[in-house]
Amino acid sequence: MPLDSKHPETLALHAGWRADPATGAVAPPIYQTTSYQFRDTEHAAKLFALEELGNIYTRIGNPTTAILEERLAALEGGVAALALSSGQAASAFALQNLARAGDNVVASTDLYGGTWNLFANTLKEQGLDVRFVDPSDPENFRRATDARTRAYYAETLPNPKLIVFPIAEVAAIGRDYGIPLIADNTAAPLLVKPFEHGAAIVVYSTTKYIGGHGTSIGGAIIDGGNFDWEKFPDRQPALNTPDPSYHGAVWVEAVKPLGPVAYIIKARTTLLRDLGSAPSPFNSFLTLQGIETLPLRIERHVSNAQAVADFLSARPEVTKVIHPSRQTGAERERADKYLKGKYGALLGFELAGGLDAGRRFIDALKLFYHVANIGDARSLAIHPATTTHSQLSPEAQLATGVTPGYVRLAIGIEHIDDILADLDSALRAAGA
Ligand code: PLP
Repeated sequence: MPLDSKHPETLALHAGWRADPATGAVAPPIYQTTSYQFRDTEHAAKLFALEELGNIYTRIGNPTTAILEERLAALEGGVAALALSSGQAASAFALQNLARAGDNVVASTDLYGGTWNLFANTLKEQGLDVRFVDPSDPENFRRATDARTRAYYAETLPNPKLIVFPIAEVAAIGRDYGIPLIADNTAAPLLVKPFEHGAAIVVYSTTKYIGGHGTSIGGAIIDGGNFDWEKFPDRQPALNTPDPSYHGAVWVEAVKPLGPVAYIIKARTTLLRDLGSAPSPFNSFLTLQGIETLPLRIERHVSNAQAVADFLSARPEVTKVIHPSRQTGAERERADKYLKGKYGALLGFELAGGLDAGRRFIDALKLFYHVANIGDARSLAIHPATTTHSQLSPEAQLATGVTPGYVRLAIGIEHIDDILADLDSALRAAGA
C-alpha cells in the first residue's frame, strides 16, 4: 500500500499491509503454505523469468514475510528488503552476494563475536578473505582496499565497545572506488539511519529490538537503492556479468524495469534459493507484531538505559561505565553526530572486583535475565568472560576490549525503579 508518511510510528503499524481484500482481516495473516498455484503456464513462465514478481515457493518468498520486508524497507528508508531466518544468514548473504572466492571484504574489528567467527573462519575457508581494520581511523578502510575488494562491512553501534562507527566517512571512501558500505544496524534501529549517511546496504538481526520480545530468530538485508552498481563493472562483477546460476542474467540489466533493486533481487533469487535460509511465515508474523511497537519501545529502552548509565557512574563497586553518554572527545562527537542524544539501550560496566565480582553480580540478579541475547523488552545481563568470550580467538577477544570484570546489560522497558533496585542489590552482592 502506498503510504505517504515518513513517521516511524505510523510506518511501523501500516507499511506493507492494509486490510485483507478477501476477508477484511486487519492483522497481517499468516500464510502458512509452502507453495502457490500458478494461474496458467504463461503466468508460471513469467514468474520464473522474473518478468512478473509473485509467489512461487516459500523458500524464495511468502506473503506474510513480504509484509515484513516492505515494512522494514519503509522504516529504514530503503527500496526493498530480504527477510532471512537469522541475523547470521543476513550478514553472510550480504557479503556472498558480491564477493566470490578470491575476493575480499574490509570489515571493522568492532563486530559481534558471531559475525567475527563467520568472517574470520567460515567465509575464509570458502575463499572469501575478510580483512579486519580498526575503525577509529576511517582511512584504514582505504589502506586495506585492493582491486578485489567488493564491500566494506561494519556495525553502526558495535557492542561491547559501543563506539559509534564513522558511517559517512567510510561510506564516502568506498563510493570513490565503487565499494558499498554494508552496515549492521541491529543495536540501533530507528536511532541510526545508515542510508542517510551513505551506507548502501543495511543488515539486521531482527531477533533483537526489531522483534523485541525474544520469540523469534530472524534477519534482514535492506537495499538502500542508492548505489550505482552499473557504474563500476570491474569492481562489482557479480552484478554486472552474466550469472550462470540464473541462465546468464546480468543483474543490473535484468532487474532494471523493477527499480534499483539488482542487489536484493539477486540475493533472493540465487543465495536464498540455493542456501535456503528462509524465515517461517509464523516467525515473520511475530516479528511484524514486534515492529508495531518498535518506536515506542525504543524510546523507553533509551531513557531507561540513560538512567542506568547515570546510576552506575555513581557506584563505588563500578570502575568504568561503557555507554556513549560517557564518552569524550572524538568518540563523543561521533556518538552525537549519529545518535543525536539517544545513546541506545546497551551498556557495559567494569566491576572493581574483577572476575569473581562479575560472577557474584550475575548470580544475584532477580529481574534481569542472564542470557546471551540483546534487545528483548526484558532487561538482560551477561558476563562475557565466563560465557560468550570463551569461544573467541585471543585476537578477537583483544579486539572487543572486554576485561574479566566486564558486565554487559541490555536495558529493557520495565519500570526504571525496578531495574535500578535489581542492579543495586546485585552490586551489593558483588562487593567492591
Ligand atoms: N549482528 C549483531 C550485531 C548481533 O548482535 C547478532 C546476534 O547477537 C547478530 C548479528 C546475529 O544475529 P542472529 O543471532 O539473529 O543470527
